Amino acid sequence: MKTVEIQSSSTKNLALVAHDNRKPDLLAWAQRNRDTLAQHRLFATGTTGHKLAQQLQLNVHALLSGPMGGDQQLGARIAEGEIDLLIFFWDPLDAQPHDPDVKALLRIAAVWNIPVACNEASADFLFSSPLLNETYTRRVPDYSAYLKVRT
Ligand code: PGA
Repeated sequence: MKTVEIQSSSTKNLALVAHDNRKPDLLAWAQRNRDTLAQHRLFATGTTGHKLAQQLQLNVHALLSGPMGGDQQLGARIAEGEIDLLIFFWDPLDAQPHDPDVKALLRIAAVWNIPVACNEASADFLFSSPLLNETYTRRVPDYSAYLKVRT
């Protein structure tokens, strides 16, 4: 199958999300990584974003709260090539009212070949990668082949 290349700059658009039980973990991780986060553009679901902005004293583009559509907003931005990396501390021990949206966000990140960290350890691995601060070209299938256009 044909592929297309999507280039990200050395300054990345990072998306951060945490379910309620995981917010303390994400905030603690973000505090430890504040200097690195400050070098990039930050996006987040509503509550996560406001907490991060308050704690880190950094600009965070906060979307709607996750259950109110924030996860879907992030998914749409991923599909439109506006997000380069997703840090999503989702709760593996508690059902969420918006589980379909959570699944959709993780799915669309896989579709668009976005790196995803689901916990502290995976976030540490992503943030210790030299690729975080370099331009990076990711390849995705040429999804235009999926368009069913009548001729
Ligand atoms: P929140 O949403 O940041 O608004 O809490 C996160 C989520 O549950 O997806």
